[in-house]
Amino acid sequence: MGTIAAALQAVQGRICAACAEAGRDPREVRLLAVSKTFPAAAIREAWAAGQRAFGESYVQEALAKQRELADLPIEWHYIGPLQSNKTRPVAAHFAWVHGVDRPDLAERLARQRPPHLPPLEVCVQVNVGGEASKRGVPPADALALARFVAQLPRLRLRGFMTIPPPSRDVPTQRAHFRTLARLLAAARAAGLAVDTLSMGMSQDLEAAIAEGATLVRIGTAIFGER
Ligand SMILES: *Cc1c(COP(=O)(O)O)cnc(C)c1O
Repeated sequence: MGTIAAALQAVQGRICAACAEAGRDPREVRLLAVSKTFPAAAIREAWAAGQRAFGESYVQEALAKQRELADLPIEWHYIGPLQSNKTRPVAAHFAWVHGVDRPDLAERLARQRPPHLPPLEVCVQVNVGGEASKRGVPPADALALARFVAQLPRLRLRGFMTIPPPSRDVPTQRAHFRTLARLLAAARAAGLAVDTLSMGMSQDLEAAIAEGATLVRIGTAIFGER
């Protein structure tokens, strides 16, 4: 087995163990392989091992890899920072966008999503740690932005995404993820048809799954150090 196939299997093992620990069905947790900075050949290797959804953070780099991998029906997720001048290629070349944190970005994506494609799947990014360096709406504003996204054409609101402050302390990790889980519950109570908690990376996927993650974004543990 190749290195990437073995690493994918190890990550799937971690997901299953975390689900068992939390009393959850592992089929509730999707694995997004974060391939930013890694070449198309690495993605092809992961595809051969059964991985279907890939996350990219840099638009030009992603588009180049998408051209190289046009023979594979990959589900592409844009997880990077979203700038107004980059929304058009993102709306046209990705199935999912995880980092919507402003109404004007959502409006641009809705306007620019090509009509022949299915609706763009959107997560609202939330800054759970309140860090000045991180993107995302404050938790107090997340529900209002979710409502705004939900009523736009060509977009389908799926839920919330977060990148918490780095911490090695599991209770601290869990507290941040719980903030996002509470937002999902509040959005459902408000009548929004949301199903996605995009949270958990290589270092903290267990804590994220314990708090209800439905999609973990894993780079380093699959492809190696960037
Ligand atoms: C790079 C990145 C990841 C993957 O992080 P790892 O620690 O390498 O698993 C996940 N989410 C986002 C938004 C990223 O930019």
